Amino acid sequence: MAEVERERMEYDVVIVGAGPAGLAAAIRLKQLAAAAGGEIGVCVIEKGSEVGAHILSGAVFEPRALNELIPDWKERGAPLDTPATKDRFLLLTERRSFQLPTPPQMHNRGNYIISLGNLCRWLATQAEELGVEIYPGFAAAEVLYEDGKVVGVATGDMGIGKGGEPTASYTPGVELRGRETLFAEGARGSLTKTLVERFLLRDGCDPQTYAIGVKELWEIAPEQHRPGLVVHTVGWPLDNRTYGGSFLYHLEGGQVSVGFVIGLDYDNPYLSPFEEFQRFKTHPAIRPFFEGGRRVAYGARALNEGGFQSIPRLDFPGGALTGCAAGFVNVPKIKGSHTAMKSGMVAAEAVFARLNGDARASVRAGLEQSWVWDELYRVRNIRPSFRLGMWAGLAYSAIDAYLFRGKAPWTLHNHADYDQLARADSVPPIAYPRPDGEVSFDRLTSVSFSFTNHEEGQPAHLKLRDPEKAISINYRLYDSPEQRYCPAGVYEIVDAGPGAGPDKRLQINAQNCVHCKTCDIKDPEQNIDWVVPEGGGGPNYPNM
Ligand SMILES: Cc1cc2nc3c(=O)[nH]c(=O)nc-3n(C[C@H](O)[C@H](O)[C@H](O)COP(=O)(O)OP(=O)(O)OC[C@H]3O[C@@H](n4cnc5c(N)ncnc54)[C@H](O)[C@@H]3O)c2cc1C
Ligand code: SF4
Repeated sequence: MAEVERERMEYDVVIVGAGPAGLAAAIRLKQLAAAAGGEIGVCVIEKGSEVGAHILSGAVFEPRALNELIPDWKERGAPLDTPATKDRFLLLTERRSFQLPTPPQMHNRGNYIISLGNLCRWLATQAEELGVEIYPGFAAAEVLYEDGKVVGVATGDMGIGKGGEPTASYTPGVELRGRETLFAEGARGSLTKTLVERFLLRDGCDPQTYAIGVKELWEIAPEQHRPGLVVHTVGWPLDNRTYGGSFLYHLEGGQVSVGFVIGLDYDNPYLSPFEEFQRFKTHPAIRPFFEGGRRVAYGARALNEGGFQSIPRLDFPGGALTGCAAGFVNVPKIKGSHTAMKSGMVAAEAVFARLNGDARASVRAGLEQSWVWDELYRVRNIRPSFRLGMWAGLAYSAIDAYLFRGKAPWTLHNHADYDQLARADSVPPIAYPRPDGEVSFDRLTSVSFSFTNHEEGQPAHLKLRDPEKAISINYRLYDSPEQRYCPAGVYEIVDAGPGAGPDKRLQINAQNCVHCKTCDIKDPEQNIDWVVPEGGGGPNYPNM
């Protein structure tokens, strides 16, 4: 088939990802251009079938950045309808629960319990009113370079067969060219990963570290519903060595957002974040919330945990990283949307200055002057202190917060998550209880509540750099941890069938993938590359 010329579209700024960071950047760019009495061409592309379809968060939202970006958000109908009114912080043992004092960073007065997906949908309407062009259903598959400079992105070709061959429905990708390109892909962005490698953006900082968050949305019995209530737990079902805990947020409309977050530096390859979450819901202090209720949605997503010491270089020729693509989550607060938005706004200000002749303007310098920097600096030692275990981490965090007030004269360091796994023969397997079908469920039924869909017949978007390692290393040494850490049952070890060679093989059910990016992060050999499937594929989260 002759090579087909790709269509080209030209903008001043191209933004990859319609999350809080990308949309805040787009809005700020338009505001800056209007204030300067000029025009600016801004487009945002989003791989989800619509804005919000791939957004999964808690979420308790701190409105600080939104107040700065759109001060009259209330009058404009932003979906911030449930003020957080009460915080509870519980320590769970297998049968009991103990209320602990709420750590200072976890006080939520002034914040709102929201659906971040719905906030993004609303931000998108605000951006479009200002003239931003938003293209959902288009995945940026390739960074375009000219003379070593980023000049935009190309969307993936559509209608490619399993073997990479064009099919009858083949349509070439589109080039979106920008004088500046902002990458706002969220945690572990697939193009961000290639930019980090090409421009050595992580040189001189700690590795980025991550957690996986598995979440469900429920409609619960009216007598159990307390709009505004925020509950966090630590302890059971995790052991002292594994970092994590749950969140349970009572939204409007009888809904509760419940989830479990586990640091991806866990060592036991038998651990299954999905099953830990299911088990958590059966605790005597938690189960009553869900009895008589109905689960309406399920999903999972990785989030950054590296914080201040893992912030990479943000600027490169022709663009910058912003939001969780770079990593601005405040872990003790369990919040990253406000920092993602602010970082998007600061990135917009820097690239706007560059476009107007100030070649020295940098996103990094702008952020260093912003409240994001100070906020992350103050909490930088809290997450790494949990490497010593939950009790040591809780004790250190109290000292750090109350005595040093975040100004301890040292900085604890982060280690890459993928090299923390222990060999399967050195740790005990974990026996998980069977789901009861009332408050706990199996994985495949759960995936159907993410409304995930991928166009059939396309090449798998999960690429093994060396397919042989799936058995020779992952299976033999770690009992294939991807079978358990994947929250969507994408990876399965099956009999290889007759013939020479290993008797097992890895089957990849790519169509189930909910785009959480955990496999790209946690694979012990870094052998899995998550790349974008055809645009529009993936989960279709309603209001996660
Ligand atoms: C379980 C969980 C609970 C959380 N709880 C809270 C909370 O309570 N409060 C809080 O403030 N924060 C919370 N966070 C963190 C918060 O959700 C993130 O910090 C925030 O969403 C980051 O925003 P972002 O715009 O950088 O990235 P994202 O929100 O991840 O958005 C990125 C967007 O880019 C799109 N995209 C990615 N790659 C491409 C591509 N190549 N082409 C096209 N589109 C692409 C994605 O589909 C997505 O829509 C939580 C996160 C998780 C996972
Ligand atoms: S295949 Fe990877 S990205 Fe997809 S759901 Fe499983 S762990 Fe997440």
